[in-house]
Formats: sequence, structure tokens, C-alpha cells
Amino acid sequence: MSDRQKEEKRQRNLAYAKKFKKKKKKTASAPNPFILMAPSAGPFPATCARCKKQTEVPFRPTGLKPVYCDECFALVRSGAYVPPSTEAEPAPVG
Ligand SMILES: [Zn+2]
Repeated sequence: MSDRQKEEKRQRNLAYAKKFKKKKKKTASAPNPFILMAPSAGPFPATCARCKKQTEVPFRPTGLKPVYCDECFALVRSGAYVPPSTEAEPAPVG
């Protein structure tokens, strides 16, 4: 790719970025769906998927994802505890 082509591409990207920025600014005035989705009634009672201890979570438990207490969540996050459900990850073949 020549320098000229690079420069042209850069200008195009800049123009696109400007366009995108404008668009983004416009939507910023609209209510953020994530804010609307955020539960204000929490915390919600839940049972830890690892130690079965009663705990509270700031989000509404969906039942689709395991819920952990603070202790177990820290273990999962650090990788010290791997949840038995491996549906999200492709199983190794062979
Ligand atoms: Zn736990």
C-alpha cells in the first residue's frame, strides 16, 4: 500500500469517525437502555452455585447463569474454581 493510499484511508476513517461521533452525540440525549435495564430494587436473594450458601446479588438472577457468593465469585474470577458447566466453552475433541 502506498503512502497516498494510506493517507486516503486515514481521511476516510476520520470522516467516518466524525460521522459516528455526531451520531453518538445524538443518541446520548436519549435514555440509555442499560440504565433502564439496571435494577434499582436490588439486591436480590440468590443461592450460591458452588457452596449453596444464601447470598445477595445486585442483579436479578436469570437462572441461566450460576450465581456465586462473594467468596466463590472471587475464586471463579481468579480461576481457582472452574464451574462444572462448560456449555459456554467448546469441549475439547478427542
Ligand atoms: Zn459460595
